[in-house]
Amino acid sequence: MAQTATIHEPAREIPVSADYDVLVVGGGPAGLTSALAAAESGLRVGLLESRSFVGGNMTIGLPVLGFLGQKGNQIIEGLPQKFIDRLKAREAASEHRACPLHMGITLVEPEAVKTVGLEMLTEAGVDVVFYTFVAGVVMDEDDHTIRGVITESKSGRSAVMARVVIDCTGDADVAHRAGVVTEKGNEHGGMQPPTLMFCLSDVDTDKLRMAIANAPKEARTYLTDFIPADYFGQNHQFIVVGLRELMAKARQERDLDIPNERTIIITGLKKGEAWINMTRVAGTDGTDARSLSNGEIVARRQIDDIVEYLVNYVPGFEKAHFTKTAPFLGIRETRRIVGRYVMNEQDVLGCRHFEDAIAVASYPIDIHRPGDEGCTLIWCGDCYDIPYRSLLPQRVENLIVAGRAISTTHEAMGAIRVMATCMAMGEAAGRAAALAIRQDIRPHEVDIHALRRDLLTHGAYLRGLMGERLTPETEAVAIPG
Ligand SMILES: Cc1cc2nc3c(=O)[nH]c(=O)nc-3n(C[C@H](O)[C@H](O)[C@H](O)COP(=O)(O)OP(=O)(O)OC[C@H]3O[C@@H](n4cnc5c(N)ncnc54)[C@H](O)[C@@H]3O)c2cc1C
Repeated sequence: MAQTATIHEPAREIPVSADYDVLVVGGGPAGLTSALAAAESGLRVGLLESRSFVGGNMTIGLPVLGFLGQKGNQIIEGLPQKFIDRLKAREAASEHRACPLHMGITLVEPEAVKTVGLEMLTEAGVDVVFYTFVAGVVMDEDDHTIRGVITESKSGRSAVMARVVIDCTGDADVAHRAGVVTEKGNEHGGMQPPTLMFCLSDVDTDKLRMAIANAPKEARTYLTDFIPADYFGQNHQFIVVGLRELMAKARQERDLDIPNERTIIITGLKKGEAWINMTRVAGTDGTDARSLSNGEIVARRQIDDIVEYLVNYVPGFEKAHFTKTAPFLGIRETRRIVGRYVMNEQDVLGCRHFEDAIAVASYPIDIHRPGDEGCTLIWCGDCYDIPYRSLLPQRVENLIVAGRAISTTHEAMGAIRVMATCMAMGEAAGRAAALAIRQDIRPHEVDIHALRRDLLTHGAYLRGLMGERLTPETEAVAIPG
């Protein structure tokens, strides 16, 4: 519906409901670790989350990708690993399993993510406030600092003040409202389409994997993208991407409306459970409520046909039942801030080192193309660094952004967006905020070596020029800027 009219909203006094040292907005993978890291140094930390649980996209049935690099080594440790360890202690996370397509897969149980995330936050003393949407900002007169945010909730409108704000909304909601320049999508503004994940039970996942593993070499029926068939013979937990000919056959024979050329099946942690990543609503803008609503409506309509395909064509799904959808439409891409450095495709594909690296990533450029049903995947062969400057917006000096909305191009965003990487950025943002507050300086004034040593001291992984693991003592390697 086109916007046809405006009204004038009169100015009004609103209460200040809280005042923190560090305010984290959004409790997804990046927000969780941001808040935990900031709270470790004894600061007053608040976390505002619009939903009733933490975890963000880690609660929609996705595996966590990004812990392992393209050479098989673990490249994300520190707080993200501590979080996985806590999940593992209640059998709610798998090992980091190597995968030829995704590098590393870590299965997590969505409900446990909510429970463990909240447990860790409350133990750390983070003041978690749910059901609270950040709808505006309070700026200083000179416009270079953010004093706080405006929230809307059942309690009405209020202000929450902070010395440093970390925007982990995924959509750069805070940065955008604070006047930070943001970009969306590719050169035509096209954004990766969203997906409503859903779950089936009573899937014989062993039958599925063995059908792929044992298919005759010349047959294309069970061909998977980039993952050799024998991988499925050896792994009980896996992601299937492909079965293109099977899908094309089903679409043709049954006139199914499936807007995806690939079958994407993720085994759950529970026996017989499979999560399906196949709905797709092109043209959705995750920052527009109407567009999001349309996305939910269209994606939900697609589910029946996808289930019909799976049950009638894919081995192991013969007795499967649809059980549930994820709690919300999964948004792959919206705004990206324009920060002090814009990470680009060459940085990823060139395995670039940065002097101000605060995390190491390795996930390929993985773009569900906005304009068609396909996907672009490009690997760099090793790892690339995430520079601290990409977390720092231009203009607003006490704001840090972590997660998928950091400063990148559309292509680089397709690589850095996975959840282990977002958690590592979150940890860096939280530690940077704490250093800035302790020294009474702005986040961009934080000594990068002090931040990197702090990260390393707390168990994070950073690499030297030869790919060697750095320690607090070897941190200051000379890296071309
Ligand atoms: C369908 C799909 C499949 C994917 N597959 C994988 C995969 O297999 N593995 C993988 O690792 N990654 C995958 N990704 C990417 C990954 O899930 C995201 O890029 C990642 O979760 C981003 O983390 P984040 O913390 O930046 O944001 P999010 O996970 O989106 O978390 C943001 C949080 O902020 C809250 N929030 C937002 N706006 C506001 C506001 N204004 N006020 C208050 N709270 C707010 C939200 O409720 C949410 O909890 C996939 C993404 C999608 C959509």
